[in-house]
Amino acid sequence: MLANATCIVCEASVGLPDDCAVGELLICSDCGTELEVVDLDPVTVEEAPQVQEDWGE
Ligand SMILES: [Zn+2]
Repeated sequence: MLANATCIVCEASVGLPDDCAVGELLICSDCGTELEVVDLDPVTVEEAPQVQEDWGE
């Protein structure tokens, strides 16, 4: 069982899935922020970049 991550926005505890890997995206259940796992030892998360879809015009 992996440790929980801490939301970098609201500091809530966010559970990691058992098969969590670097690059996994988690959603903070408290504030809804998308968090990307960037390291597992220790568990480190960063706010996932907001992907701007460019549909072209
Ligand atoms: Zn949060």
